[in-house]
Amino acid sequence: MTQQMLSGNWNYPSQIRAGAGSLSFLGQSCKALKMQNPLLVTDPTLAALPVVAEALRLCRAAALECALFSGIKGNPDGDNISEGVKAFHAGQHDGVIALGGGSALDVGKAVAFMSGQQLPLWAFEDIGDNWTKANEGAIAPVIAVPTTAGTGSEVGRAAVITDSRARVKRIIFHPKMLPEIVLLDPELTAGLPAHITAATGMDALSHNLEALCSPFYHPMAQGIAVEGIRLVKENLVNAVHRGHDLSARLQMLVASSMGATAFQKGLGAMHALAHPLGALYDAHHGTLNAVLMPYVLKANEQAITGKIERLSAYIGLEDTSFDGFLAWILSLRAQIAIADNLSQIGIDDSEAGKIGEMACADPSASGNPIAFSAGQYSEIFVRAVHGEL
Ligand SMILES: [Zn+2]
Repeated sequence: MTQQMLSGNWNYPSQIRAGAGSLSFLGQSCKALKMQNPLLVTDPTLAALPVVAEALRLCRAAALECALFSGIKGNPDGDNISEGVKAFHAGQHDGVIALGGGSALDVGKAVAFMSGQQLPLWAFEDIGDNWTKANEGAIAPVIAVPTTAGTGSEVGRAAVITDSRARVKRIIFHPKMLPEIVLLDPELTAGLPAHITAATGMDALSHNLEALCSPFYHPMAQGIAVEGIRLVKENLVNAVHRGHDLSARLQMLVASSMGATAFQKGLGAMHALAHPLGALYDAHHGTLNAVLMPYVLKANEQAITGKIERLSAYIGLEDTSFDGFLAWILSLRAQIAIADNLSQIGIDDSEAGKIGEMACADPSASGNPIAFSAGQYSEIFVRAVHGEL
């Protein structure tokens, strides 16, 4: 396919401008949302890079006032949100441009949401119908510009924020936290190092795959998930090894947005295990999902064989059996230098009991096709540590 053909202007789930150079729609997008004075939220590393200067230049060229907020941590906490809200009010901003990886996007979304609320942030944790307590009319509009292809936070309705006092990550949710306009520009991901491209790309694959395997009824999400997986199959290896292949980079950005759109259907045991492991060992979320993937697929085998066989036929695998699909996952991981087992990334089985319990209690566990017990989660974890597939 030529670059020319790879573009789009979609409204599902929100307006998405996809294509090389789509950052240039920034000024026009602000105006479409009636923003005169957006706050650009990003992380401190990106703040020093040309992409942020370019985004600010584009805003000013469109005669918009614009200011920068980049005081956020890798795992953003409640203080980051309060400070962002303070900056939002001090500058009398009327919208947010969230530019960056998952953390920057989540902070941008949370700042826009909290800018008009009376209740504290944690009152909106994604439990029961907490979200209905929000003043919906006071949520500022958001334009999301991802610079990694994995989390898909640009099309998500939640933000993951660390509660430092309780030492837990909380999910803040509101349907209107969904950014109104998304710009998917592969020129912004072309410079990512190979290992980050590999790990984030496998996170996108895990979102699509877990959404597909989850038993909940959501045929639209299921359709998105299978095409998302095909895009990963056709493009991830190229994106990793030929980083400046803008076509592969764009397709991975799209696959990432598709994964997060699809996982409204549910996630599963990969994420149920990756969440506690991330908290206890500070390992990369995408890497954890990538390493866990074949072990979780194998544990789910009897519940997902039919779906995996149909998927394998659709994505064009020669061997469309469950084992054929598993072999493809293993070969994909090898081609992009993902570890075979958890011990290779410094995780041993000493906390197996605790991890099993945490995985079983994780919200993602409810989307797994088999309701594993804490003991079964421990077993899957131990197999993944030792590479016993
Ligand atoms: Zn994930």
